[in-house]
Amino acid sequence: MSDDLFLRIIQREIPADIVYENDQVLAFRDIEPQAPVHILVIPKVRIPTVNDLTPEQAGYVSAMFLAAKEVAQQEGIADSGYRLVMNCNEDGGQSVYHIHLHVLGGRALTWPPG
Ligand code: 5GP
Repeated sequence: MSDDLFLRIIQREIPADIVYENDQVLAFRDIEPQAPVHILVIPKVRIPTVNDLTPEQAGYVSAMFLAAKEVAQQEGIADSGYRLVMNCNEDGGQSVYHIHLHVLGGRALTWPPG
């Protein structure tokens, strides 16, 4: 059994509310939403943090952004606006070590973050 929580979601070992999927990425609702729309977009390969990204994996990163755009349209927040966030390591607030793009929207978001 993998210790990578999000790989376990990809492998359907842990249930998730999946909203989008293609051969490179999976998107599902965050279990502890911080906004009316809070979806996580993840690559279907294990990349623990942004620091671990290699040039060969660049296709996964573009796939994540294209999926985020699709998800925003699906959720009806493309025009009202949304935020894409990726946390890295402890000071960045990362808690799951499989890179993920947070898609946040459905309300006016404050800036700067705390
Ligand atoms: P991070 O803090 O690493 O940037 O974001 C991890 C996110 O994963 C958090 O927003 C957290 O609520 C979410 N999360 C953690 N465990 C689970 C889970 O088992 N299922 C889902 N859907 N989201 C999770």
